[in-house]
Amino acid sequence: MSMQSINPATGQIIQSFPTWQSDEINTVLSQADSAQSEWAALSFTQRSDCMHNLARIFRQRNEEYANLITEEMGKLLKEARAEIEKCAIGCEHYANKAESYLSDELIASDASRSLVVYQPLGVVLCIMPWNFPFWQLVRAAAPAMMAGNTVVLKHASNVPRCALALEDAFRQAGFPENSFRTLMISSEQAQAVVADDRIAAVTLTGSSAAGRKVAAIAGQHLKKCVLELGGSDPFIVLEDADIESTAKQAFAARLQNMGQSCIAAKRFILMDVIADAFVEELRMILSQLQSGDPKHEATGIAPMAREDLRTDLHAQVERSLAAGAKLIVGGTVIGTQGAYYTPTILDYVQPGMAAFDEELFGPVAAIVRVKNAEEAVQLANRTQFGLGGSVWTSNTIRGEALARQIRAGSTFVNGIVKSDPRLPFGGIKESGYGRELSYHGIREFVNIKTVWIK
Ligand code: NDP
Repeated sequence: MSMQSINPATGQIIQSFPTWQSDEINTVLSQADSAQSEWAALSFTQRSDCMHNLARIFRQRNEEYANLITEEMGKLLKEARAEIEKCAIGCEHYANKAESYLSDELIASDASRSLVVYQPLGVVLCIMPWNFPFWQLVRAAAPAMMAGNTVVLKHASNVPRCALALEDAFRQAGFPENSFRTLMISSEQAQAVVADDRIAAVTLTGSSAAGRKVAAIAGQHLKKCVLELGGSDPFIVLEDADIESTAKQAFAARLQNMGQSCIAAKRFILMDVIADAFVEELRMILSQLQSGDPKHEATGIAPMAREDLRTDLHAQVERSLAAGAKLIVGGTVIGTQGAYYTPTILDYVQPGMAAFDEELFGPVAAIVRVKNAEEAVQLANRTQFGLGGSVWTSNTIRGEALARQIRAGSTFVNGIVKSDPRLPFGGIKESGYGRELSYHGIREFVNIKTVWIK
């Protein structure tokens, strides 16, 4: 068995890596397990020095890592550069904040002294996706490691070079040997690792199907699990929103990372009175984009990460059209080389169509027309997902009132849903459970322990 790094802009194989045999997995799990107590024994200042070093390495090697991301999963180089910078910011956040997030809490009780202390769990397995191959890992590993856990990474099979570059970056940053390791394994092998006694907890970012499988194994072995899964975020535009600027934001919210983001806006729920104007603005923006080399500044349409993902997306578009959606623009595969897909708008989308009911992980905007804000909220919530959502209006008080009614882990008013290390991130329903980032994220992989003294 091997893993292949394939450039999705060309379809060329860059490099192949053999997947590990069980003895290699066994050795590395033992090493990560042994390294944990040494790592946890360091002070916050010592751990934070490593984390600051890692942030510096991300900045110094931004161009190299960004190129690696673009070659391996196809995103625009400028987006890859921003991803690496975000990693540096994430590392600095936890380097600076972990100690205060995990400081002892004195609680008045019947004891002479009682307190809550936060202690590491052990080795955390991170099962990560390809869409933000550096950031998704840093978002999970920085807090887990600052809490004193060691980490083993099972990365998506199409980004093995990113996985190895991450391991090298931790080593260069001076993290103790084996405190962060990459496992070159398949998803089947990862299931056995979840069950392994040396793994204390697992976090997975990916599809609901993968989340279900991994959570079932973690449950069977009674292990802590955090799941960050898919989404079908609503983007609600009220009649008082500025159409031109909101359409620009809609474009960014949908086309970021070629639409391959869990928090990309997916269902655009528009008041009838502004729908025609909004769709036309969005159509004009999308029609001007040119496909090309994702490393070129002028390129607007990058490839999707894999050809099979494009095939799946195209099938979802075709099923939606067959069910009555109206094609405004796009809906086609571009060229014969690479995994390119035209940015697409589907209008008159309704429940019962793939574009409404399923996650569309690519550059396809589903337009849903509604009569009023109440209907907008009702349809926004009519999904198995609950990750993010946004409301666009010139009346922020009304916007906040509606945002509170959206059943999701986060809802933004007049802003694109994004992750920020200062704020918790995660979902409800089939978007998963648990939280990443902020102090909520770092407290997921700790033993919240009561100490009681008479
Ligand atoms: P997957 O969910 O299959 O992959 C995500 C990660 O989970 C990868 O590391 C994968 O490994 C691993 N994995 C998959 N199945 C299992 C399993 N049964 N046991 C253990 N680990 C597993 O995503 P895909 O790449 O196939 O993308 C499919 C869809 O998933 C997308 O179209 C999108 O809807 C959703 N997705 C959501 C993401 C998000 O950010 N929430 C990110 C990526 C995808 P391997 O690569 O070896 O299979």
